[in-house]
Amino acid sequence: MKLTADWLLAEPTQTILAALTKGGAQAYLVGGCVRNALLGAPVSDLDIATSNTPDETVRRVTQAGFKAIPTGIEHGTITAVRNHAMFEITTFRRDIETFGRHATVAFSDNILDDAHRRDFTVNALYLDASGTVLDPIGEGLEDLAARRIRFVGTPENRIHEDYLRILRFFRFTAWYGDAEAGLDVEGFAASAANQDGIEALSKERIGHEMRKLLAAPDPAPAVASMAQSGILARVIAGADLRALAPLVHLERLNYAGIEPDWLLRLTTLGGQDVARALRLSKAETRRLQVLRDHVGTTESPAELGYRLGFADARAVLLLRAVLLQTQFDPISLQNAEKAAAAEFPLRGADLLDRFSGQALGAELKRLEALWIASGFSLTRDELLR
Ligand code: ATP
Ligand code: MG
Repeated sequence: MKLTADWLLAEPTQTILAALTKGGAQAYLVGGCVRNALLGAPVSDLDIATSNTPDETVRRVTQAGFKAIPTGIEHGTITAVRNHAMFEITTFRRDIETFGRHATVAFSDNILDDAHRRDFTVNALYLDASGTVLDPIGEGLEDLAARRIRFVGTPENRIHEDYLRILRFFRFTAWYGDAEAGLDVEGFAASAANQDGIEALSKERIGHEMRKLLAAPDPAPAVASMAQSGILARVIAGADLRALAPLVHLERLNYAGIEPDWLLRLTTLGGQDVARALRLSKAETRRLQVLRDHVGTTESPAELGYRLGFADARAVLLLRAVLLQTQFDPISLQNAEKAAAAEFPLRGADLLDRFSGQALGAELKRLEALWIASGFSLTRDELLR
């Protein structure tokens, strides 16, 4: 079976694969790009697996005009960059079981070893420069066609090597699994049984997987299984999944017309210490707080639009509907959108002849509130009077 894609035929891809395979060495695109291309889904990053040692990889890509950055050299990963082209290149590896700690690795020159250390059969598919797909384990193509997310080998053992695979199991099932069939039964049982291992994972890694899970077209069924098995509570203490499915439902109605927004979905879950549990950035933490703070206020849709801008006003209106179980009114979106473009017609300078210091600030606030209450209709002259 031959696969074509513009990123495969592109000059940088062909150049780097040629450099890495010269003289009989092996190099393949692997993982998400191969999986998504086969599914006809968008491809974001390009990962390469190679039989070259990391030192040899650096030598070869540098000679081919790429800059080699040792982004994950301890597990054999080098990032090659040239202009806008970027590849993450990892030497074939074999995982060595370490009983509950992060997998230690040994390099290998054998693609089958490399396939066996990958998490799911659909992530262990390889693609060469000519577009030939390789399935060394012999289960990935069939699983992909049936949209089955199954661990490579025995789930229990694979989870013991790296407990992050539990969260990846839910993430990939949400994105690529068959919604009717649900989670792979053995994978789910092993995930539930080994969930204490999640506690030892770094918050960065957990946060990364949860962001991606919540960005899936419909993460609600996978999150419900996480909740049911107790895994969700280990990730976010006190999380409540009840508002997530209604939110996804509202998002899908045309009038809400919004792209999946993982932070909005996260907000529906509530829970304690979310920013720390998922290592949210400062900006993400601030947005989460803004959304939470405005759900319970009496501000009108227009006032939300004016104060928060349209996107966050819309997020708050959706949250109000699903968290407070109120009717969602599409007109409220129009009001928020109109108000988001409104500009308060007064500046501090307009009041300088009558007020100063704190009194000036307070007066400006009072007039702004009047203006908002008027539906943004009071003019500058009316306000000054
Ligand atoms: P996407 O980039 O769309 O999120 P992906 O499948 O490329 O999906 P990455 O996290 O980029 O996922 O990882 C690239 C590949 O590396 C995976 O497809 C998988 O083969 C392997 N991999 C990544 N993380 C793990 C892990 N924790 N255990 C085993 N294999 C892994
Ligand atoms: Mg990837």
